[in-house]
Amino acid sequence: MPIETIFDTMEYGTAPEDRSVALQWIANHGGLIGPYVNGAFAPARDDLAIRNPATGEKLAGMTLCTKDEVTEAVQSARAAQPDWQKAGGAARARVLYALARLMQKHARLLAVMESLDNGKPIRESRDIDIPLAIRHFYHHAGHAQLMPSALSDRVALGVCGQIIPWNFPLLMLAWKIAPALAMGNTVVLKPAEYTPMTAMIFADICSQAGVPPGVVNIVTGDGSTGAALVDATVDKIAFTGSTSVGRQIQEATAGSGKSLTLELGGKSPYIVFDDADIDSAVEGLVDAIWFNQGQVCCAGSRLLIHEAIADDFHNRLKARMDKLRIGDPLDKSIDVGAIVDPIQLQQIQALVQANTAGQTYHAQTPVPEGCFYPPTLITGLHPADTLMQEEIFGPVLVSTTFRTPAEAVEIANNSKYGLAATLWTENINLALEIAPKLVAGVVWVNATNLFDAAAGFGGTRESGFGREGGWEGLQAYSKPRQPLPEPAQVTPFTGQGAAADDIDRTAKLFIGGKQARPDGGYSQAIFGPKGQLLGHAPIANRKDIRNAVQAQLACGWGKTTGHLRAQILYYLAENLAAQTNRFAERLDAMT
Ligand code: ADP
Repeated sequence: MPIETIFDTMEYGTAPEDRSVALQWIANHGGLIGPYVNGAFAPARDDLAIRNPATGEKLAGMTLCTKDEVTEAVQSARAAQPDWQKAGGAARARVLYALARLMQKHARLLAVMESLDNGKPIRESRDIDIPLAIRHFYHHAGHAQLMPSALSDRVALGVCGQIIPWNFPLLMLAWKIAPALAMGNTVVLKPAEYTPMTAMIFADICSQAGVPPGVVNIVTGDGSTGAALVDATVDKIAFTGSTSVGRQIQEATAGSGKSLTLELGGKSPYIVFDDADIDSAVEGLVDAIWFNQGQVCCAGSRLLIHEAIADDFHNRLKARMDKLRIGDPLDKSIDVGAIVDPIQLQQIQALVQANTAGQTYHAQTPVPEGCFYPPTLITGLHPADTLMQEEIFGPVLVSTTFRTPAEAVEIANNSKYGLAATLWTENINLALEIAPKLVAGVVWVNATNLFDAAAGFGGTRESGFGREGGWEGLQAYSKPRQPLPEPAQVTPFTGQGAAADDIDRTAKLFIGGKQARPDGGYSQAIFGPKGQLLGHAPIANRKDIRNAVQAQLACGWGKTTGHLRAQILYYLAENLAAQTNRFAERLDAMT
C-alpha cells in the first residue's frame, strides 16, 4: 500500500514535523557534505548519495574521504592536541558546556535531520537521541572541570580515531567525542556512511562554540575510510558497530600500541518471570525491541518467558504489536519508522525467510511500501535455533520458554554476546539472585533501555570491551600520568562579545524569579563619586522581605540535582561573561 493511501485510511490524524529547517541547512551547504578538518569544512564531493530511507529521496552528496584526507585530519588533530591538553580542565569544560548549550539551541534541527537521515521516529530523535547527546556534553563538561582535582593522576591519550554506526548517529558521536575532549584528547571521528548528516551540523556547532581548530575533526566515508583511520597514526581507536568489523579492527590494531575499545553487537535476553507485572513487561518489551526499529545493539531481542504465562503474555504482546503505527518518521504519532537502508531491510527479510522454526507473527498494522518492516514475533523457538543466536538488528523478537530461574539463566547466557539483559519479577530476592549470574555489561530490572551519561555502558564476550559514560568511561580516554601532576589551570573569562545595549535604569527588586516593584513604592537615588546620578534603587520593606523568604522556601533549589545546579551556574557564568563590559562600566561609575 503506498504511504499516502495508508495516511488516508488511518483513524488518527497525522502530525508531520516540518522538515524545511533541515532541508534549508543542506541547501545552505550546497547539497554537499564532506570532511571537517582544522576548524573548517574542506571542499566536498558528490561521491555517495545520502538518502532519506523513508522515501528514498537524496538528501545530499557525501565525500568518501581518501587515505590522504584521513591523514590530513589526523595531522590537524595531532597539531592541536598539546594546546588543548595544556588549556586545562576548566577551559575544556567551558567549551564542552558551550557545545551542549548550542546543541540544545539547535535541538529541533538536529532531531529533524536525524529522522530524515536515519528513518527513526521523530518522537525518538526529539525526546531521546538528541537530549541524551546533549546530556553527555553537559556531564562531561563537569568531568573536564573535575579532572585536575579528581583525576590528577591521569592524562590524555593523545589523538583518538572514532568510528561510529548509523543507529544512533548523534548520540554515538556524543558518547565518543564528549569524554575524549573532556580528558584533553583531540579526535578524528568517522560517522557511518548511511547517516553523516547530524555529525555535519555538529561540526558547524563546533565552530560556533569556540572549539579550537583541530580539536574536533570529522571525516566522511565508508568502511575504507574507517580502515584508513584505523591504520593512521592515532593513539586510540574507539569503535561501535558490528562484531565482524570489530574483529577486523582488533586484528589491525594488535601489537600497534594503540588503545582500543569496542562496542559491538548483542542478542540481549529479556526474561519475564511468572510473577511479573505482565502489562508493564509487555510495554517494556515494546521499548526493548521496537524502539528504533530494533536497530539497537542492546535491544531486548530474545524473549525468555516463564512457561506458565507464555500464552497469555504472547497474546497480550500481539494485541499491543497490532496497535503500533508504522510510517513517516517525521510524523509525531508514529511508533515505528523506516529501516535505515534497503540493504539492511534485505538482511532482515533474508534472516526471517530462511527461518523455518517456530511460528512467525507479523503485526496486523498497515506497513507502507519501501524501507519498512512490520514488528514481528517468532514464538516456540529452541535456544539453539539460528534466530535465537544470531543478531537480526531489526524489529524482530524471538521467544522461548523456561521453567525455573536456573534454566532462565542458562538460556540467557547461552549466547556469544554479553551486552545487556532485562529481567522482570515482583520478587526482589529473585532479581538480586539472578542479576549477577547474567553475563552482560548491563542488567535492567523491571525496566529497559535506561541510559544516562553518568552510567557506564558496554559489553563482554563478543559484545566488546571498554565502557562509555560515567567515571568508567573516562578510563578509556586517559592514561596514568608520569610522574607528577601539573597544577590545575583555570582560564579566566575574557568577556569578549559583551552586549552593547544600554542598561535599564529603573531597577526593581528580584523576587521569586520576577522583577517586582517595591511594596512601599520607595526608591533611593544612587550617585557616582562625582555626585552624578547613576540611577534609582528600590527600597524593600518587611513585606518584600517576607515575599522573598517565601519564594526561597518554595523554590526547591536544595532538592535539585547537582547536574541541574551546575547547568544553571554555567549559564549564569556564560551570561555574566558576555556582559563583562557592562559590569565593569557600572563598577567604574559607582566607585
Ligand atoms: P553495521 O553492521 O552496524 O552497519 P558496521 O560495523 O558495518 O556496522 O559499521 C560501523 C562503522 O564502521 C561504520 O562507520 C562503517 O563505515 C565502519 N567500518 C566498516 N568497515 C570498516 C573497517 N574495515 N574498518 C574500519 N571501519 C569500518
